[in-house]
Amino acid sequence: MIRVLFATSEVYPLVKTGGLADVSASLPEALCKLGYDVHILLPGYPAAVKAARDAGSRRKTRFRIGQYEVSLWQTRLPGTAVTLWLVDCPPLFDRPGNPYQNENGQDWWDNAHRFELFGRVGAMMAVGEAGVNWRPDLVHCNDWQTGLIPVFLEHYSHRPGTVFTIHNLAYQGIFSHETFRALGLPDSLWRWDQLEFYGQLSFIKGGLVFSDRITTVSPEYAREIQSTEFGHGLDGVLRHRAHRLTGILNGIDTRVWNPEEDPELAFHYGRDHLKNKTQCQAQLQQELGLEVNGGPLLGFIGRLVEQKGVDWLIAVMPELLDRGCQFVVLGSGEARYEEPLKQIARQWPRQMSLTLGYDEGLSHRITAGCDIFLMPSRFEPCGLNQMYSLRYGTIPVVHAVGGLSDTVNDPLEAGIGKANGFRFIKADEQALLATINRALENFRNRKSWRRLQENGMAADYSWKQRARSYGNLYQSILKERDI
Ligand code: ADP
Repeated sequence: MIRVLFATSEVYPLVKTGGLADVSASLPEALCKLGYDVHILLPGYPAAVKAARDAGSRRKTRFRIGQYEVSLWQTRLPGTAVTLWLVDCPPLFDRPGNPYQNENGQDWWDNAHRFELFGRVGAMMAVGEAGVNWRPDLVHCNDWQTGLIPVFLEHYSHRPGTVFTIHNLAYQGIFSHETFRALGLPDSLWRWDQLEFYGQLSFIKGGLVFSDRITTVSPEYAREIQSTEFGHGLDGVLRHRAHRLTGILNGIDTRVWNPEEDPELAFHYGRDHLKNKTQCQAQLQQELGLEVNGGPLLGFIGRLVEQKGVDWLIAVMPELLDRGCQFVVLGSGEARYEEPLKQIARQWPRQMSLTLGYDEGLSHRITAGCDIFLMPSRFEPCGLNQMYSLRYGTIPVVHAVGGLSDTVNDPLEAGIGKANGFRFIKADEQALLATINRALENFRNRKSWRRLQENGMAADYSWKQRARSYGNLYQSILKERDI
């Protein structure tokens, strides 16, 4: 049985700021079902340590790293049979706020130290030096927070294989040269082809340069990040390692996201009994104080940041509201997007609902209740919301980039027989508006709309097949390394 240590900085349902948390829960579980022995490694945030205590779990080992006392808890990821290890170091991880920021939304001043320590513990576990009697054949690292693990492992002759998955190349873990020195990393790593990135320290570069294989979360994003347009300055490194880079599309948790039995919904429906979707819409409109009028209701859920194309959305809303469309927006993020959205909600109170914050339940009701789901992202490594929408018979309108391009087919390109949504190519608000207009025309044609819904709902978005691709990748690394 292949043993894999899956190192991540967030995992659903314990701690989540984005799609990484969903993937970190569902992929290990799917791999375990395929017969891999996957253990998750997570920093000991307050919610995670509390869940471990409540479950009656224990600390397995204790050791010192520099000035810090560290212990490892062994527990299970709630709701699964997957083993979860928590790196408990209260001065670094027992803090309010989210994993990376304080309650005012500022990055913790010592993030480099926090995730360097996390990386050291990951490497210690990987080579059997953490005092636990389980040792992996492979370490699967995720995003910049785990970027130093392959760096630390480089010096061991009998190290496990390493995979580094890019969930979002825009977040790189960039710190100053002073921080590099303060971490005590060897000077030999301060090179343009190692951890140095335009005069600064880059954690993610560690993962990209030192791991055996690199993956990212969709085939299209794997191609895009090798271009200057989408490479965030790392396209050169990625082109150099192109033969080690693959894109594997994320799956979704089809138990949590199932319109037939979603506990967040008052009415349930499926591909051959869609009628109750209308009730879900009416209920959502009531809940949010919108007029119950049969739509069209357009939704958006996500972080209110530049990546998500919120400015394009804001630009097209007034015209669509004037024409009678309704909008539901759920998310939080930068004030430059929150403020205009608030203003629009004040101006059209019966047509526009804005919920600032994070609300898992509401996100399910929006996914079910909307007619159209908008994802005008400037770039999107994979995107999960479009797959949730497709499964809920809600038609996505997306910018054709990354995983959105791999999952959404437009009738103009694919024909109505294979289409499940609408996509635009040009990166601007006119293209978004024109494509929403096309979607609205189709919305009035019940038969073709129904066809789109059915096509979306019939597809398989589960992890099973996609986890197999990771399994094949693991096996090829072990074969290469002859482990
Ligand atoms: P990203 O990781 O870039 O934020 P993804 O589409 O990959 O984007 O994943 C975002 C995940 O977070 C989805 O599961 C989405 O439903 C969820 N999400 C984002 N914002 C909110 C919110 N305000 N309330 C509830 N869920 C949210």
